[in-house]
Amino acid sequence: MSRMQAIQADITTLDVDAIVNAANEALAGGGGVDGAIHRAAGPELMQACQRIGGCPTGTAVLTPGFRLKARFVIHTVGPIWRGGQQREAELLASCYRESLRLASQNALATVAFPSISTGVYGYPLEEACSIAVRTAGDFLKSDETIKELTFCCFDERAFSLYNKLLDT
Ligand code: ADP
Repeated sequence: MSRMQAIQADITTLDVDAIVNAANEALAGGGGVDGAIHRAAGPELMQACQRIGGCPTGTAVLTPGFRLKARFVIHTVGPIWRGGQQREAELLASCYRESLRLASQNALATVAFPSISTGVYGYPLEEACSIAVRTAGDFLKSDETIKELTFCCFDERAFSLYNKLLDT
């Protein structure tokens, strides 16, 4: 039985140990999923992010979830798509790996990801989904802490892409 699944939902509503935020390097909040998570978590989340100060692209940091159902938020910063020659694929894979590493180190068993970099940051959706599924699948092979990894899709297209990739 695979520990990975795709669902179509608003990630801010999920009752999991950690949701992952597609943040920016300044952890300054923004639009898209980042804005939605900050609105749902309340102003304490921004204060926690300001204390941390920042997060280089491809890395991840952990905060509490405050008013969210999720106990924690893992903030990771995806690459901005610049055509594919600027280590985008490597940096995107690193986001998934580093987020999962943080989850595992903190004994978080259920984790949900949005589709990092595929909104404002412009990463082509099919390539991004395939990196997400491959990198997470590889990570789970050598990890026993994470019991359930959810790819939380906002739209139909991402949902059907993830389902196709998870089936094969
Ligand atoms: P990035 O800057 O990394 O591209 P965005 O927030 O612009 O981040 O988009 C990342 C993905 O998150 C997109 O596929 C977008 O559709 C999706 N998204 C936006 N809001 C939500 C939400 N509330 N729950 C889940 N996914 C969301």
